[in-house]
Amino acid sequence: MPRYVLPAFHADVLAPGETHPDVPREFHDAAEALGPRFRPALLRYRRFRGVYPMLVVWAEDAPALTGDPAELAGAVYAGLHRNMCFACRTWYTVAYPDHSLAPGSVPHVPNCPACGAPADTARLHVLGIVPGSAGPSRDRPIP
Ligand SMILES: [Zn+2]
Repeated sequence: MPRYVLPAFHADVLAPGETHPDVPREFHDAAEALGPRFRPALLRYRRFRGVYPMLVVWAEDAPALTGDPAELAGAVYAGLHRNMCFACRTWYTVAYPDHSLAPGSVPHVPNCPACGAPADTARLHVLGIVPGSAGPSRDRPIP
C-alpha cells in the first residue's frame, strides 16, 4: 500500500484485494465491482484530524503503484453516495467525484443504466455506478 504525499493530504492507495481497517468494506466492494480503474484509498489531511476513505479513479486502468505522485496525475477522488436519476427516479450507489481534491480528467458515466437518459438529464454526473446497486429508494444501504 503505497503512501502518496501530496500538498494537502496523504493518500494511502490500496492494491486489489488489499484491505485496511479504516476503509469501510463498501469501498473495497465498490472498487472491485467497478473494475481496475477504481481503487480504495485512505486520505489524511494535513489540516484536519481523522481519516477519510475515498476511491481513486483513473481514466484507464490504475498504473502500478509505487508512491510516486506522478502515478496520480489525472486521477480523481470520489466518495460513495446514493444518487437518483432525475428522469426515471432510480437510485444508485455511485462514485461521486470530488474535484476539489484533484480536478483530474476521468470520463463520467454517459447515461442512466435503467432508462438511458443522458447524464445531463439524469443529473448523474458520476464516475461509476456500482453494479447491482439500483433501487427504488435512497434508503437502500450501500452494498
Ligand atoms: Zn434513469
